Amino acid sequence: MTTLLGNSLKLLLVSSPLGALGSGSGGGVELTLRNIATELVRRGHSITIVATQGSTSWGMPLVEIAGSPQISAQTQGRDAPTIIPASSVLANFWDYVRQVQTDFDLVVNFAYDWLPFYLTPFLKIPVAHVVSMGSLTEAMDEIIERVAIECPGTIGVHSLAQAATFPFANHCRYLGNGIDLSVYDFCAKPSPWLGWVGRIAPEKGLEDAVAACQLTGIPLKIMGFLQHKDYWQQILQDYPTAPIEYEGFLSTAELQKCLRECRGLVMTPRWVEAFGNVAIEALACGVPVIAYRRGGLVEIIEDEKTGFLVEPDSVSGLVEAIGKLDKIDRYACRQRVERDYSTTAMGDRMEHWFQDIVSK
Ligand code: UDP
Repeated sequence: MTTLLGNSLKLLLVSSPLGALGSGSGGGVELTLRNIATELVRRGHSITIVATQGSTSWGMPLVEIAGSPQISAQTQGRDAPTIIPASSVLANFWDYVRQVQTDFDLVVNFAYDWLPFYLTPFLKIPVAHVVSMGSLTEAMDEIIERVAIECPGTIGVHSLAQAATFPFANHCRYLGNGIDLSVYDFCAKPSPWLGWVGRIAPEKGLEDAVAACQLTGIPLKIMGFLQHKDYWQQILQDYPTAPIEYEGFLSTAELQKCLRECRGLVMTPRWVEAFGNVAIEALACGVPVIAYRRGGLVEIIEDEKTGFLVEPDSVSGLVEAIGKLDKIDRYACRQRVERDYSTTAMGDRMEHWFQDIVSK
C-alpha cells in the first residue's frame, strides 16, 4: 500500500514499562502513544503495540507482556545506577522485539530507560526513540548520546527546551506533539473554578497551585493519577482550608468535560517539562494556561495571548496571572492547537521522521 510519503510501514510500538496503558502510571506517554498509533493507522501504516499486561488496546493490535515494572527515572538522583528488577517487563518487551524484528520495518521505543538504548545497535531492525523527558541521570545521558552518534537521526524529542537539557541537543529531532481535536469540545463560557491536571508527584509542584487558590479563594479542581500518596497527604495537611477538590484519574472523555469548564489551567512544574500534554488539551477546549516559564511550556504558551508565563516557583506570580485571565480570548487558545498541535500536524512530523530512518 502507498501512503502520502511512500510505502506503508510496519511499525512495532514499544510502550513505557511503568505500568499498563490506560492506568495513568505512564503519564503523558500513554496519550502520546495512542495518538501517534491512531494517526499512523489512519494514514495506512500497520501498527502493533507492545505493552504491559492489562493494557487498553484502543482497538489496535496489542501484545500484552507480563513482568515487574521499572522505577520511574524522575524519582532518582543524577548519579543513580541503572536498575532492572527480577522478571523485568522491560527486558521481556525487548526479548519479544528480538524475536519478531524481521516482521517489521521499524521499532518505536517510548521507554525512558537505559536498556532499549543499549540494545539498539545489537538489533537488525532500526529503532526510533521517542524521548519523553529531559536529562535526569548521567547513565541515561551517556547511553542516549551513544545512540545519537551511532544511529544518527533516531532520537526524537518533544521540545527544544527538552533537547537543550542534553549535551547532544544538536542530534535531536523535534517532534512536538499532537491531539485529536474532535475529542475536545470548545467551551466559550467557563465556570468560576480553575483546573490543575497531571500526575500528583513532587516534580509537578501541585502545592503552588493550591497555595495560589488559597490566596485568591478561587476553587481548584485537581485531575490526575495519584502517583505519590505521601506527597498528596502533605499538601492536604499544609493547606487544610484551600478550596480544592480532587476529581480522580479521568478518561480523556471525562477529563475534557471537566477541563473545558475551567477559567484557566494552572501548571506549576518544578522540573523541565519535556512538553506538557495537558497544556494542549486545555488550549484545545479554549482554556488559557498559566504556567511557570520552564521547559516545553514556554514553546506552547504565547504569553498574554493563550495564557501567561510566570516566573518559576512564584506563587505571587500565579496569583497576578489569575487576576488577568479574563483578558484572554478563549477562541485564540483553540486556534493555537488547531494550527500547531493537531494529530495531522504531529502525524506529518512523525511520518517524515520514520521514513527518514527507514530509508537510510
Ligand atoms: N491525564 C488523564 N486523566 C487525568 C489527568 C491526566 O488521562 O485525570 C493524562 C493527560 O491526558 C496527559 C497525561 O495524563 O496525557 C499527563 O501528561 P503530561 O505530558 O502533562 O505530563 P507527564 O505525566 O508526562 O509528566
